[in-house]
Amino acid sequence: MIAMEAQLLEGKKVAEKLKIRVERDIVECSKKLGMSPVLRAIQVGEDHASELYLKSQRRVAESVGIKHETTALPQTASEPDLMGEIERANRDPKVHGIIVQMPLPKTFQTDQVLDTIHPDKDVEAVTTRNLGRLLINKEGLAPCTARACIRLIEETGVDVYGKEGIVIGSSKVVGMPVFLLLVGKKVTSTICHTGTFKSGTLESQVRRADVLVVSAGKPALIPGAWVKEGAIVIDVGINRVDGKTVGDVEFETAKKRARFITPVPGGVGPLTTMTLMENLAQVVSLQLKK
Ligand code: NAD
Repeated sequence: MIAMEAQLLEGKKVAEKLKIRVERDIVECSKKLGMSPVLRAIQVGEDHASELYLKSQRRVAESVGIKHETTALPQTASEPDLMGEIERANRDPKVHGIIVQMPLPKTFQTDQVLDTIHPDKDVEAVTTRNLGRLLINKEGLAPCTARACIRLIEETGVDVYGKEGIVIGSSKVVGMPVFLLLVGKKVTSTICHTGTFKSGTLESQVRRADVLVVSAGKPALIPGAWVKEGAIVIDVGINRVDGKTVGDVEFETAKKRARFITPVPGGVGPLTTMTLMENLAQVVSLQLKK
């Protein structure tokens, strides 16, 4: 029998489809606002990865009719300086969505800073209120990367109801919201983290996954041999190894066992940025209803 290779879940293609809807929604929003919606990114200091993300935000925003602005604070800015800048953007009626670029200086209390964003302008869904709404399974905003993972799973057309879902990584913006969104789709879900790894039970968890979402930021954490035959594998990890970008899953071996797999780069990443614009259209609609 000839071994079948997994189908690639290419975020770029899915993003192109999503773009058609987002563009239409932004045209609607712009008519009602009397201006193009504005997405403001606030940055402290300089960081290479953050610069790349900003560049891609700007390009994708402009491609769908959103105005992108960046406020760059110096590395020496204090936490109150940053919070003051966020509050200014909260009050500014000409700013519709706010993003605080990560990473922040190590001494900053990230959660406290993010909670300064007005929930109605919280386009990345990182405030306590918007994250909390995921718990009560209210239709609403969800962090962009988590939403992109779920959209890629939907793209497979596989009915995941009652299937076994394993999420690796329990961060507030990726692992935890993916877990909650999977539960919302009635996937029987488990979340794994460093505790699972240290207890030596990661392999047995991964082996039962019909849907596997990996977001640990550790290259080759998941050997392909652990992947269940026919699984859907969503690799969120972005790691630089010997000048190349790789995910957390051993791609070459995993694709021989999975039915669907995201490549890295080209998987979750390109869809995340378009999902950010989808979230902006959503927050503008909410603001217009008030
Ligand atoms: P994080 O550092 O906040 O969280 C990592 C999680 O992985 C933690 O819960 C930790 O317990 C778990 N973990 C770490 N090592 C582990 C191990 N050996 N075994 C099991 N669990 C382990 O990271 P994050 O912000 O969630 O990002 C994770 C990765 O996803 C990074 O590589 C990041 O660059 C990438 N990322 C990609 C996108 C995208 O759009 N593609 C967006 C956000 C993050």
